[in-house]
Amino acid sequence: MDNHRYLITIRCLKCGEKFILRGKRNVEGQYETGFKRCVCGNETNLHIDAIPEK
Ligand SMILES: [Zn+2]
Repeated sequence: MDNHRYLITIRCLKCGEKFILRGKRNVEGQYETGFKRCVCGNETNLHIDAIPEK
C-alpha cells in the first residue's frame, strides 16, 4: 500500500492561480487533497503535479 504523502501543486489553466497542497493517493491512483475548485470557479481545467514527500 502506498502510504506516501505528496506535495501537490495544482495550477489553474484558466486564470493561472497556483495551489500547493499536501495529500495522499487513493486506491484509484488519484490525489486526495480536498481541493474542490479554483477561486475563479474552474474545477476541471487544471494541471496537477505531485512529488512524494521525504
Ligand atoms: Zn482559476
